Amino acid sequence: MQCLGRGAWAYPADPPIQDGRANTGIIVMRLGMKSILSAAVLASFVSMPAADAAQKFVTIGTGGVTGVYYAVGGAVCRLMNKSYKETGVRCSTESTGGSVFNVNAIKAGELDFGLSQSDVQYNAIMGLKQFAGKGKVADLRAVFAVHPEPITVLARRDAKVDTFADFAGKRFNIGNPGSGTLASMEELIKEMGWTKAKFSLAAELKPDEMAPALCDNKVDGFSYAVGHPSAAIQDPTTTCNAKLVPLTGPAVDKLVKEHPYYSYATIPGGMYAGNPDPVKTYGVRATVVTSAKVPEKIVYNLVKTVFENFDDFKKLHPAFAHLDPKDMVKAGLSAPLHPGALKYYKEKGWL
Ligand code: GLU
Repeated sequence: MQCLGRGAWAYPADPPIQDGRANTGIIVMRLGMKSILSAAVLASFVSMPAADAAQKFVTIGTGGVTGVYYAVGGAVCRLMNKSYKETGVRCSTESTGGSVFNVNAIKAGELDFGLSQSDVQYNAIMGLKQFAGKGKVADLRAVFAVHPEPITVLARRDAKVDTFADFAGKRFNIGNPGSGTLASMEELIKEMGWTKAKFSLAAELKPDEMAPALCDNKVDGFSYAVGHPSAAIQDPTTTCNAKLVPLTGPAVDKLVKEHPYYSYATIPGGMYAGNPDPVKTYGVRATVVTSAKVPEKIVYNLVKTVFENFDDFKKLHPAFAHLDPKDMVKAGLSAPLHPGALKYYKEKGWL
């Protein structure tokens, strides 16, 4: 675990939030499984059927604890739980495998809300790629977009990698099952004419396992579609001098040109130790999604709570610093907006 336990983004000094998680990222990492389990156990008790009009609890599916989805869920729930007196709704987060898992769990009625990459949201509503053969996720509804997620590639310095193509024949972590990262990477390597067999090892470790694996020389590199700054990138750049690798070239250009949910992105120079130069890549947008079966009042209350306390929300993670509400209600959303969200955005005159 040599790469973990460092440099998470501190939340303001408020008491621990409802689901029992501590209020700093660093403590979250130390508590690790215990806090995830407590959230999961709580979630299994409190998550009520989405169609229940008197619903008192909501659960938000996030991602790994070293990513930014976990912070989004934590921030939304923190504000929701502070507004409990007005709304009567309590909120808890669950650490999950990521975008694809969250969409499937929402479809199954096991989660009320979840974080999803914009490409996964699009594929779900259209019944494509990861959802092909299973039908469209017709009940999926958009709530709002959050931060941009550049597809971020890290390498060990001794792997002698300058471009993504240099990973051919090397050990690479492409993303865990259920993650949006894996979904996006599968699309990229297909576009490049590669298969997973192009790597000597195509590992599927979870985000909190990637940094230790890289620093312990179990893999030469990994990819992570994640907001910045992220503890998952900060840990290996600080602990074992990992290097950011650009993701550019004809396959990337074609993907960006052909798909509305992709755009070019740059990871700013100096954001991470030992990586002073900007790094070009492309990426998606993080979005919050729900089901058409979740009552209008619940979704209305959630978006109202977030946007009426937006300055507080933005302070809860540095990746939220540049968020603009008017953009968040449009960008990267391909599923129809949930009526509860639409009602609030219309009231505000944003749509
Ligand atoms: N984009 C990643 C995924 O969908 C998760 C990133 C995060 O947890 O911040 O799997």
